[in-house]
Amino acid sequence: MGFFTKQNEDLSEQWRKKYLNLFDEQNKVEHTHQEKEKLLRQFIIQLSIITEGRDKYLDPILIRLRNHIKDEFDLAILKMELKTFNESVKNMPVAKKNLKADLLFDFLVRQYKDSAQQTALRDLQKLVNSEETMIEQVSDLFIEILKIIEPVEQKPLNSEEIVEPVVYVDVNVVSQQLLQYFGALAIPAVFEQPAELLKEALLNPNHSTMLFEEILNDLVKLLLRIKEYSEAEQQDIDQFLLHIANQLSELNVIVTETNAAANSSVKSRNKLDQSVFTQIRELQVQAIKVKSLDILKENVNQCFKTIAAEIKAHHQQDQEQQQKFQDHMAELVNKMISLELESENLKAELKVIHTQATHDTLTGLSNRNAYNQRLKDEIARYKRYHTPLTMAIWDIDHFKNINDTFGHKAGDKVLALTANQLQESTRDTDFISRFGGEEFVMLLPNTDITLALKLAEDLRELITATGFNANGKAVPVTISCGLTEFVDDDTEDSFFERADKALYEAKNTGRNRCCII
Ligand code: GH3
Ligand code: MG
Ligand code: MG
Repeated sequence: MGFFTKQNEDLSEQWRKKYLNLFDEQNKVEHTHQEKEKLLRQFIIQLSIITEGRDKYLDPILIRLRNHIKDEFDLAILKMELKTFNESVKNMPVAKKNLKADLLFDFLVRQYKDSAQQTALRDLQKLVNSEETMIEQVSDLFIEILKIIEPVEQKPLNSEEIVEPVVYVDVNVVSQQLLQYFGALAIPAVFEQPAELLKEALLNPNHSTMLFEEILNDLVKLLLRIKEYSEAEQQDIDQFLLHIANQLSELNVIVTETNAAANSSVKSRNKLDQSVFTQIRELQVQAIKVKSLDILKENVNQCFKTIAAEIKAHHQQDQEQQQKFQDHMAELVNKMISLELESENLKAELKVIHTQATHDTLTGLSNRNAYNQRLKDEIARYKRYHTPLTMAIWDIDHFKNINDTFGHKAGDKVLALTANQLQESTRDTDFISRFGGEEFVMLLPNTDITLALKLAEDLRELITATGFNANGKAVPVTISCGLTEFVDDDTEDSFFERADKALYEAKNTGRNRCCII
C-alpha cells in the first residue's frame, strides 16, 4: 500500500514539472509570435506607404489595409482586404515592357486599309517600342489606337446624311479562313448543295454575285440549320435507339417464349439465340460507328428482317417438331394403353396358367407340382430354424365303392367336400394339396407329431361326422391318415415314404384312423 502511494507522489511531481516546463515553452512561443506579428505589421505598413502612388487602383486598398492593421486586428476583415488586393493586382494593367504590340499592329494595319490610318498605326507602334514613350499601360495604348481607328471627325454631322460604314475587313483573308473551317466541318448530305454554293462564293468573294455580308449571313444561317439538324438528328438517333431497344426486348420475349415452348428443339434454339445475339452485337457496333441516320436505319431494318425471318423459320420448324412430338407422344400413349391391356390380359392368362399348373381344378387345392415345391421350401425352413415339420397323408376309405355305388359325379362331390373340410380346418400356414385320386397330403410347419396327430384325429372325426349325400341318399365317408415328423437326415422321398407307410398301417389296421411313424 505504502509503495503504491509513494509511486503516485513521484508521478504527480514528474507531471507538475513537465507541465511547468511546457507552460514556459508556450509562453516563449507566444512572445515570439507577438514579436513576429509586430514586425510583420510594421513591414506591411511600411510596404504600403512605399507602394502608395504607384498605381491608382491599388492606392485605396492599400490605405484601407494599413489602417486596419494599425487600429485593430480582425482576421476576417484582413482576409477580405487581402483578397481584394490580390484581385486588383491580378487585374492591374500590364506594364508597357510586357506588351507584345507588334502582332497587334500587324493585324490592325491589315484590317485598316486607309493609308493615313496605316501611317498613324505604324507611328504609334514605333512610339510604343521606343524608350522615351509616355505610354506605360495597355489602357493608354488602346486609347491611342482608338483615336486612330475611330476618328471623331468621321462622325456624320448631319443625321440625314447616310454614311456607309467603312468595311475594313479583308474579305479574302476572312473567306480563306471560312473555307478552312468548311473543310474541317462534317456537312450532312442534305446541306451539301447550299454549302457548295457558299464555298464557291467564298473562293472568289469579290466576284460573287452576292455581297460579302450576304455570304456571311447565309453562312451563319446554314451553320445554324446544320446545328439544329445535328441536334435533331442526335435526338432522332436517341429515339431510334430507344425504339431498337424496345424492339429487341420484345424480340427477347418472343425468343424466350419460343425457347420455353421448344422442348424438343434445343439445338435449333441455341442457333437462333446465337444468331439474334450476333445481329444485336452488329447493330450496336453500327450504331456507334455509322454517321448517317439513313444508313443506320437501313442496317437496323435489314437486321430486323433477318431476325424476324429466323424467328419465323424457327417457329415453323419448332411447331412442326412440336406436332411431331405430340403425334409421337399420342402414339406412345396409345401403345402404352394397349400394352397395359395386353399385359393385364397376359397377367390374367398367366395367373390362370399358373393356377392350372399349381392347383387342382376339381377341389381348388394345390396340386402335386405345388406340393413338390412346397415340400422343398418347408425342408429348407426346417434346416434353418429347426422347428418341427409334420406330414400327413390322407386317403378316403373305399372310395372306389362310393364311385361305384353313387356314381362318379357323387364321387367328385365327395372329393370336393372333403377337400373343403380339410382346407377349412387347417391354419393358413399349413399346406394342403390333392396328391392324386382321393389322396391328400398336408405339410404342417411348427407342428410336432403329437399335436399333428391330435389335429388329424379331430379332422378325421369331423369328416366321419359330416353327412354326405347323393341324390337324397346318405353317403358314408371315412378317411385314413398316416403321419410322420421330419428328422434331420430325412430327404423329400424318405419323409414322404414314412408318412405313406403310416397311412398303409392305418388302412391295414381297419381304416378310419390315424397312424404315426
Ligand atoms: P382304399 O380304402 O384301400 O383306399 O380303397 P379305395 O377304393 O379308396 O382305393 P382304390 O385305389 O382301389 O380306388 C380309388 C378310386 O378312386 C379309383 C378311382 O376310380 C377313384 N378316383 C380317382 N380319382 C377320382 C376322381 O377324380 N373322381 C372320382 N369320382 N373318382 C376317382
Ligand atoms: Mg387311394
Ligand atoms: Mg382310398
